[in-house]
Amino acid sequence: MSTAMLVESPSGFHALSLFSPVLAALDRARYFEPTPIQAAFVPEALQGRDVIGQAQTGTGKTAAFLLPFFNSWRDNNLPGPQALVLAPTRELVVQVAEEANKLSPSRHCRAVPIYGGQRIRKQLLELKRGAALVVGTPGRILDHLSRGTLAFNNARYVVLDEADRMLDIGFRPDIERILRRCPRERQTLLLSATVPPPVLRLVHRYMVDPVHINMAPEHATVETIRQSYITVDEDRKVELLLRVIEREKPRQCLIFCERKRWAEDLYRDLRQHVHRAAVMHGDLDQGLRNRIMQGFRDGKIVYLVATDVVGRGIDVRSISHVINYDLPEDPENYVHRIGRTGRLGADGVAVAFVTPEQGKQLTAIEAFINLQLGVDGIEGFEASRPRLPRSEQPAEAPKPVTPIFGRRVKRYSNRL
Ligand code: AMP
Repeated sequence: MSTAMLVESPSGFHALSLFSPVLAALDRARYFEPTPIQAAFVPEALQGRDVIGQAQTGTGKTAAFLLPFFNSWRDNNLPGPQALVLAPTRELVVQVAEEANKLSPSRHCRAVPIYGGQRIRKQLLELKRGAALVVGTPGRILDHLSRGTLAFNNARYVVLDEADRMLDIGFRPDIERILRRCPRERQTLLLSATVPPPVLRLVHRYMVDPVHINMAPEHATVETIRQSYITVDEDRKVELLLRVIEREKPRQCLIFCERKRWAEDLYRDLRQHVHRAAVMHGDLDQGLRNRIMQGFRDGKIVYLVATDVVGRGIDVRSISHVINYDLPEDPENYVHRIGRTGRLGADGVAVAFVTPEQGKQLTAIEAFINLQLGVDGIEGFEASRPRLPRSEQPAEAPKPVTPIFGRRVKRYSNRL
């Protein structure tokens, strides 16, 4: 046997040609193997190309777009940030900044989160201390740009995270204004669960010859999540929730409501029966939202009642259960909601409460995810499927969904 055959080929992150300070940071974070989006995205971005990464949260997309920047970062005392990440929600901004500070190759390479609802003065102080990377919501970033408290003359690495979501929220004009204030000579990365025409318009205008890495199975939900539904009358939902909690004994449970008011009402009922419950919705002030998120991350809060605005983007690894207390009106939200559990291949349980009038809504969700939900039975709650007129039943039997992990990477370069 020749000696050459004994030399091991590099594995894990070493195979991605990253510099040793970046590899050391990955080691400290205990990331040993790149996830599929990281394995596909990082090498393309390392070449300096513009890249579109089509992937959902929970797939490791944040590290995928952070690592190439960290690899190119040098402690060169340039004024202002060298990289900018735009993200749709405050929670996601905080999360991305935390991930960046965790994976940073040097303490001189700091990430600073910038978002509305937090005092400008605190953000100014943070920026003064030096920010290699700024992560922010478009509104507040623009605010700083117009006050002259931030400039992106040296930001040659720009990331649009959850681009579809940012456009949904109506951030397009802000994003465009910000991009026009960044150097023309830059690398632009875009991450999005979907790439509908509005995202494509952004791509055409602001990206150069991008590679498109598609890791998003069509409308797929994660295979490791056990999904089911229970039929229940509106006025017995609280009772059913308590029964489900009693049976499942969740490690951590996210409970979704459609409206802020409904979330508040449910929380008021729930906290009379269980400890360590909290509620999160867009009307709460940012400081409180941060404290609740931290409490949920630390496991001090076990039951979190939330609306979609804050539900999306929450990345708490130990969420074992997602309960769709109110069935989402938009089927896409179902995918986002249940994607809060089953993170990185962990097991998860998703239960949907369906009132007899919501049969059509349930069918729309099943058609969207291409999967028929199992019927869950709890004594006293007849889980009979709400009857549908024949014309409204799905045309063909849904096929099983494809898991996010292990899926082939579809790549087609220069097609956009
Ligand atoms: P994201 O999709 O970026 O929200 O990441 C989901 C979760 O996976 C986060 O908690 C990350 O810290 C974690 N993560 C990302 N990449 C890896 C990896 N290669 N190994 C282990 N955990 C990871």
